[in-house]
Amino acid sequence: MSDTAAMSVPRPCDLLVRADAAVTQDRDRRVLTDAAVAVKDGLVLEVGGQAELEAGYEPEQRLDLSGKLLLPGLVNGHTHLPMTLLRGYADDLPLMDWLEKHIWPVEFQLTDDLLDTGARLGCAELIRTGCTAFLNGYFHEHVTGQAVIDCGMRGVLGEGFFGFPSPLFPTAEDCWNTIRNLETRFENHPRLRTAVTPHAAFTVPPEELAASFALAEELDIPWQIHLAESPTETAVCLDKYGKRPVALLQEHGLLTERTTLHHCVDVTDEEIALMAETGVNVVHNPASNFKLASGMSPVQKMLEAGVTVGLGTDGASSNNQLNMFREMGLAALMGKVRAEDASAVNAQAALDMATLGSAKCLGWPELGRIEKGCPADMIALDLGFPNLMPVFNHVSHAVYAATGMEVCMTMVAGEVLYLYGEFRTMDVISLKTKAREAAKWVCNAAEK
Ligand SMILES: [Zn+2]
Repeated sequence: MSDTAAMSVPRPCDLLVRADAAVTQDRDRRVLTDAAVAVKDGLVLEVGGQAELEAGYEPEQRLDLSGKLLLPGLVNGHTHLPMTLLRGYADDLPLMDWLEKHIWPVEFQLTDDLLDTGARLGCAELIRTGCTAFLNGYFHEHVTGQAVIDCGMRGVLGEGFFGFPSPLFPTAEDCWNTIRNLETRFENHPRLRTAVTPHAAFTVPPEELAASFALAEELDIPWQIHLAESPTETAVCLDKYGKRPVALLQEHGLLTERTTLHHCVDVTDEEIALMAETGVNVVHNPASNFKLASGMSPVQKMLEAGVTVGLGTDGASSNNQLNMFREMGLAALMGKVRAEDASAVNAQAALDMATLGSAKCLGWPELGRIEKGCPADMIALDLGFPNLMPVFNHVSHAVYAATGMEVCMTMVAGEVLYLYGEFRTMDVISLKTKAREAAKWVCNAAEK
């Protein structure tokens, strides 16, 4: 008998959500039918059957999601949010050409106003496609932080830096103060955290990587880096340092539970074993890896070895979407081709990556589940869409059949951010105008 059923007097709660079914992603991966969730102070108070929770709670508000499937908010483990501004600007190019000739020259000219537009555009797309939290890496992260505060999402923000001079930071150490200030600025915010974010092992020298890791330890925040993204990166690392990327990090003591590695496409079986042993977290980015022809990450091997694997979209210019539903589908499909096994990276594994796995990669493990005591970050899929009928297995539909456009409700900390086509915390009309203006600026900046 549950807590509520044992009581005769209904307990107060802020909100009672009812849905046809709920994929909880709790420890037992329970999928409940005729489900209800009681919410109080932004947290899940109880998850159970509708009759049970209706009898046990007296809510201030109700949200009736008949015909809908409730899921935990998806967690995007890797993105560069303001890069929405560069969506579709330079496509169909190899990674190094794309970065050095097209992306970096424009990025280095971006202003705070433009970054603000890009970040808000990114938040709108994430909210619309059922993502409630993300791990970011970009420049002027206080701008993205303000966008996240305003729109009601959750974010872990990392000020990116290189080992070579950039307009923002003449040296890597020049970034340290910015990171400290970012951490101080958002220290007490319930929906914002920070992470130390060197760009990659081939763009930041090992000594500076180690120094930045010491800063992450001092501040007790995650340390994230792009790693082993392609065989080209491995060749550059071997040439510069005589070591493959994973071995280079290991040599400097940078493979730890605090570490989140983005991509890990070009990794050997021995490296996967080392990653499992050291407890590093990996974020898989299948669409970006496909688009930049970086290769196929051996995800099934990592899962079998016990590595924590999350899922991310990467930036909107190498994907070109921030849609975690498409990413889950691609993760499952790529996983099977890479492993040459149709049972590899099954639907539950893909959903686990996009929820519980990514949550660990953010250093925020209580996210990605609908469970008592966890943040009330939830989304709903409208099961009335033709592509979601009939239903045999809700997890299968979420991973293989849903496109993300069936998301009809997105909630963070008990606050509804999006409901039936309406953004409640964002002005998407003015965003459209700003996005058009930003596109003109990008075209001009590219010619400079
Ligand atoms: Zn990236």
